Amino acid sequence: MHEPAMTHLTAADPEIGGLVEAEARRQYEKIRLIASENYVSTAVLEASGSVLTNKYSEGYPGKRYYEGQQVIDPIETLAIDRAKSLFGVEHANVQPYSGSPANLAVYLAFLQPGDPVMGMGLPSGGHLTHGWTVSATGRWFRGVRYGVRQDTGRVDLDEVRDLALENRPKVIFCGGTAIPRTIDFPGFAAIAREIDAVLVADISHIAGLIAGGAHPSPVGHAPVITTTTHKTLRGPRGAMIMSDAAHATALDKAVFPGLQGGPHNHTTAAVAVALREAATPDFREYAHRVVANAKALAEALSGRGFDLITGGTDNHLILIDLTSRGVAGKPAAKALDRAGIELNYNTVPFDPRKPFDPSGVRLGTAAITTRGLRPEQMPTLAAWIDEAVKAAGDADEATIERIAGEVRDLMSAYPMPGWV
Ligand SMILES: *Cc1c(COP(=O)(O)O)cnc(C)c1O
Repeated sequence: MHEPAMTHLTAADPEIGGLVEAEARRQYEKIRLIASENYVSTAVLEASGSVLTNKYSEGYPGKRYYEGQQVIDPIETLAIDRAKSLFGVEHANVQPYSGSPANLAVYLAFLQPGDPVMGMGLPSGGHLTHGWTVSATGRWFRGVRYGVRQDTGRVDLDEVRDLALENRPKVIFCGGTAIPRTIDFPGFAAIAREIDAVLVADISHIAGLIAGGAHPSPVGHAPVITTTTHKTLRGPRGAMIMSDAAHATALDKAVFPGLQGGPHNHTTAAVAVALREAATPDFREYAHRVVANAKALAEALSGRGFDLITGGTDNHLILIDLTSRGVAGKPAAKALDRAGIELNYNTVPFDPRKPFDPSGVRLGTAAITTRGLRPEQMPTLAAWIDEAVKAAGDADEATIERIAGEVRDLMSAYPMPGWV
């Protein structure tokens, strides 16, 4: 049953109540390997489901456009202070509604329409909001895109530097959504310095690993850091922008009144709770275990002949090219989902297939690590993935069903925050 219990919801709206219950059960029964997802604590769920959602508070603590901020101001101040202390930054804005608006605020703060902005191309693992064509950021600004080397699958800083010198972007984004390797923040910083660009580290995927000391921090290299709060950081859907003091005013003005109205106070409170959790020794251990699980899973998958982009992982994320398995990403992901293993199909670098029907799948270990799975269990997961991918090619539904049962049995031994 969903925890906290939703007796009022179920009584008032049995359709939605029943669907939320069904989603909670689904999350409980499946092996959730979507690299951007996690399970938040019941404390975070309670904060995000609180009466704080009733309150408007445009502005910032101490400078609001609405009355009645006696409680909201200390909540937002706590969130800001916890972000500053956890990441060791001079300034934090905790109001962006999500990662995409946070990145948009960066454009508003530092660029004029048509200005060049550099980021990793979407097919190489970058995010839409780093200047990709179909995004507003690529339509209203001139996106300059770097990729990865075909032989290594890794960013080539020489290419980044050449492109930077040629195009003189005012902002350079590093980070992305499908990068299985450590991001070289000092390397990017040196290039940004050379052309006087603002380096923005978008740490959405790896924020929890950085907070827990399992990935190097961009602080001291990137003056501006954007992040979602709901991936490895294990908070509610939301985002933050962190920066040095020099960029604080421009970023705050860009978020409000530049882009947004009232902050989502229930989310701000939940972010504060998650940041407090992320400052504990338990969370440090969690972050390191996420990486240990990913490395163990990568090794087991490689051992079964899967082609991993870059050959492995340094973080929570694994990108698999399924070409040699004779099955595309989408049918594989769909078969795996039927087998109780949830991940997403994904382009791989230099993918000859279309983005809606690409060659690869992407997986991550943030959520299963929260459930308590350990490196010893990764060979079992790899075996199921191997079998299910084979079964996808052979249309072998009996095998898929058998795996789904085994997955349910395994996961029933691991508690899920949000389920009792
Ligand atoms: C997830 C993500 C975002 C966008 O976050 P949303 O909350 O989905 O808008 C931006 N940048 C990166 C690198 C991400 O991984």
